[in-house]
Amino acid sequence: MHPRWRLWRFVLRPGPTTLPAALSPSPANNTGRTARSLHLHPLLYERLTEELKLWHIAPTYRELLASTAIQHCQDWVTAIDLKQQRITLRQKNEITYDYLVVALGSQIRPPTVPGSQLAMPFATLEDAWILSQRLAELEDQCTHGPIDVVVAGAGPSGVELACKLADRLGHRGRIAILDRRSIILRSLPVPIQRAAARALAKRQIDVYTHASIQAVQAGRVIYHHHGQTHQRQADLVIWTVGTVPHAWPGSEEPKTTPLAQCIVRPTLQLVDYDNVLVLGDMAAMPTHHQERAPMTAQSAFQAAPIAAHNLWALATHRPLRPFCYHHLGHMLTLGQDEAIVFGFGLCLTGQLGAAARRWAYWLRLPTWRHRWRVLRSWLAGR
Ligand SMILES: Cc1cc2nc3c(=O)[nH]c(=O)nc-3n(C[C@H](O)[C@H](O)[C@H](O)COP(=O)(O)OP(=O)(O)OC[C@H]3O[C@@H](n4cnc5c(N)ncnc54)[C@H](O)[C@@H]3O)c2cc1C
Repeated sequence: MHPRWRLWRFVLRPGPTTLPAALSPSPANNTGRTARSLHLHPLLYERLTEELKLWHIAPTYRELLASTAIQHCQDWVTAIDLKQQRITLRQKNEITYDYLVVALGSQIRPPTVPGSQLAMPFATLEDAWILSQRLAELEDQCTHGPIDVVVAGAGPSGVELACKLADRLGHRGRIAILDRRSIILRSLPVPIQRAAARALAKRQIDVYTHASIQAVQAGRVIYHHHGQTHQRQADLVIWTVGTVPHAWPGSEEPKTTPLAQCIVRPTLQLVDYDNVLVLGDMAAMPTHHQERAPMTAQSAFQAAPIAAHNLWALATHRPLRPFCYHHLGHMLTLGQDEAIVFGFGLCLTGQLGAAARRWAYWLRLPTWRHRWRVLRSWLAGR
């Protein structure tokens, strides 16, 4: 290895852009456990129904990096100085680099309606933990009446979450999804929309399209629907209205698209900095058939080995490879033991879909060692 070669990867609980070396900072972990690495957002929902254990989806850094030479540093990146090749951390000192990989992901689009701070986000392991705690409180408190939940946003996250919540709360839950658009899962193929509509109906989840939330207040949500103002009782409001890329840390922002994604070359290098690679949700990763790859785990996973190869190629003066996105299909959980897997001409639903989805994500868990531990645990029912 190049003597001055350090690859820094700045993640709190790393996402899918796992690279061959990492600097992985994290703030205080309010799940009350040791520093965890979250690789699979899509499996967060399973924490609500406790279908999966925390260690299945979020193994610790110590465990993952045990047999590697990777130095693990847990901190927040507050600024990146591209010219000086220097990074400022919140708790520790500055760090210099020769090569830099930036994959800070995205965050929930900040709510803009009055009172939206009363709504809970659902995007991280902490969010899932806090939501689970809140549900447990409501389950204790609401011993007689129903528990009213409003999910804002009928995209994949809102639909998946609503189905899982319905299965967790059972007959005690009264769940509604509100979306200002005319259909649910607008960006997904029709067979998925239909399967999701069936799953929502089966769980008696009220779906309001053309419903634009005006305000969140203690115990209720105010919304416009077909020209009239309505209100809906809500013990809990969950905000799943899409994500926006994390802002570049510090003032020296590289060139970005109108969507605030960093503009990168097909090799994932920043336009003006050969030694800096940006990938995942933060980057507008160019690809053959589309202007940019979608902001999904699927594209981040595919970009990671290209970034790893290109770092090695840069350091050893070999040719770099372009990133090329291949769409592999869609997978959505539609409740406990129910999912849809759609792609390659296949459409698997119900328990079969759930098994296929679980299998696909099992293959995406980090390291074979962890995968085998998880598989043994599943087979043993533990
Ligand atoms: C609830 C949910 C469900 C999803 N389901 C799916 C799905 O089913 N299929 C799919 O393809 N995609 C799904 N996605 C999208 C997918 O998770 C993202 O596209 C993917 O995680 C992006 O990977 P990434 O490496 O760019 O960022 P991330 O996985 O978000 O990782 C970025 C990391 O950087 C850390 N970080 C941020 N700022 C700083 C800082 N200043 N200093 C240090 N660290 C920092 C973050 O904490 C995070 O750990 C889902 C997303 C969410 C939120």
